[in-house]
Amino acid sequence: MRLSHFYLPTQKETPSDAQIASHRLMLKAGMVYQSSAGIYTWLPLGLRVLRKIENIINEEMDAAGCQEVLMPTIQSAELWQKSGRLDSYGKEMLKFKDRHDRELLYGPTNEELITEVFSQHIKSYRDIPKNLYQIQWKFRDEIRPRFGVMRGREFLMKDAYSFDIDYEGAKKSYWRMYQTYLKIFKRMGLTAIPVRADSGAIGGDMSHEFQILAPAGESSLYYEVAFESLDFDDPNVMDEVVRLYAAVDEKHDPQSCPVPPHQLKQSKGIEVGHIFYFGSKYSEPLGAKVMTPSGQLVNVEMGSYGIGVSRLVGAIIEANFDGEGIKWPDPVAPFQVGIVNAKTHDPKAVAFADAVYEKLKEAGVETLYDDTDERPGAKFANMDLIGLPWQVIVGAKAVEKGIIEIKRRSDGTRQELDLTSFINQLAA
Ligand code: ATP
Ligand code: MG
Repeated sequence: MRLSHFYLPTQKETPSDAQIASHRLMLKAGMVYQSSAGIYTWLPLGLRVLRKIENIINEEMDAAGCQEVLMPTIQSAELWQKSGRLDSYGKEMLKFKDRHDRELLYGPTNEELITEVFSQHIKSYRDIPKNLYQIQWKFRDEIRPRFGVMRGREFLMKDAYSFDIDYEGAKKSYWRMYQTYLKIFKRMGLTAIPVRADSGAIGGDMSHEFQILAPAGESSLYYEVAFESLDFDDPNVMDEVVRLYAAVDEKHDPQSCPVPPHQLKQSKGIEVGHIFYFGSKYSEPLGAKVMTPSGQLVNVEMGSYGIGVSRLVGAIIEANFDGEGIKWPDPVAPFQVGIVNAKTHDPKAVAFADAVYEKLKEAGVETLYDDTDERPGAKFANMDLIGLPWQVIVGAKAVEKGIIEIKRRSDGTRQELDLTSFINQLAA
C-alpha cells in the first residue's frame, strides 16, 4: 500500500481526553475515530489489526472443532423474558421498540438466542457435542465508557457456546476452550493469566477470566511468579497452569492464600477473555432438550466463552509500546514492513524505493510504502508511531551500493542488508 493512497489520519497533538497509552496511540496513529461516547469508527489501519486478531481466533476455534455462525445484533425481547434476564440484566442493556411496538434489544450477549437456534435442530445425543461461535458486535450501555476501545459501549466480541449431553462432556468442552484460549493469546504475543472466577454454582471451578498484565488494567490481581516462566507451547503445561495460584483482589485472602508471599506478584490486569460453565441455566427455561442413548430427555449442558476482540487491540498496545509509539507483535501488525524513502528528491532513490516496494509485494509481504514528500524526520516519527515491526530505509547507500537499512521496531536494532537477504530473513 502506498501511503499517498492510504487513509491514515495521524494526529500530531496528544488527544487531551485519552488517559491511557493505548487510547492515545490509537487516536494519534489514525486507527479509530470516536463517533460518540464508547462508540468508534474503525479506520483502515485499526481495522487491519482487528482482522488479524479475528483471523487468529477463527483459526484456533476451528482447529478446536468449533463452528462459526453469525447471529443478528438485534434480538427480540421475548426470548429474554423467558430466561428471566430481560429485567435482571440491568441498564447496560439497550432496549427499543419497532414500528409495531414490539420490544427489541441490541444484544449484550447471546446465550438466549444461541440456545433457541440450537434447539431448532438438535434433538439427540448423536448430534452433540457442538460448539458454535461468532464474532459479532455487542452493545452494553456502560455507565463509564473509557480507555478507548478497552471499555466501549459498542464492542466486538467472540462468543462461543458449547452444548453437551452431560456434565462430563461439558467439562471436556470447557477445558478444551481453556487450552484454546492459552494458544490464542500466545499467538498474539501475549501472556494471559487464567484467573479462577468462582461462579458459586456447581462446577464453580469452571469459570476463568484471562488477564493480560498491564499497568493500565482495571483489575487488580495476585498471581504466582511461576506463570512468567511457563512454556505455553508445551502441551503438558496445562496441568501446571491450572494448579498455579491467581486471584483478583476481591477474591485474594492473604490469610488463606496457599502460596507464600515471596512466590506472589501483584499487578493490574486487563480482562481479555472469560469462559464459564453454567449447566442448564438457559437450556431449562428455553426448553433445549436432547435425547440420551437410553431414551431420556435431558436439558442440554452448556458453557459460554467470550473474548474481547476490540478490547484486545488496546490490550496488545498496552503490552507493546514506548515513548515513540506502538510496537506491534508480528502476528497482529497491520503491515509487516514500512518503507521510508529518506531521499525524496533523488529520482534514483525514488526508483530504488519503488522497486523495493514491488519486490516486497511480489514476495507476499504486507508493506506500507511512505512515498510522500514529507521530511525524513517526520516520516521516521510516523513509522515509529504506527509501529510496524520492520522499517526499510532507502538512503544514499541504496543508490550507491544497493544496500538498505533495516530497523526492527521492537528493540530499535539496525542492520544493513541487500533486499534479497532481508526477504529471506522475513521468510525465515
Ligand atoms: P468487564 O468485567 O471488563 O466489564 P465482563 O465480565 O462484563 O467484562 P464478559 O461478559 O465476560 O465481560 O464478556 C466477554 C469479554 O468481552 C470480556 O472478557 C472482555 O474482554 C470483553 N468486554 C466486556 N465488556 C466490554 C466493553 N465494555 N468494551 C470492550 N470489551 C468488553
Ligand atoms: Mg467477565
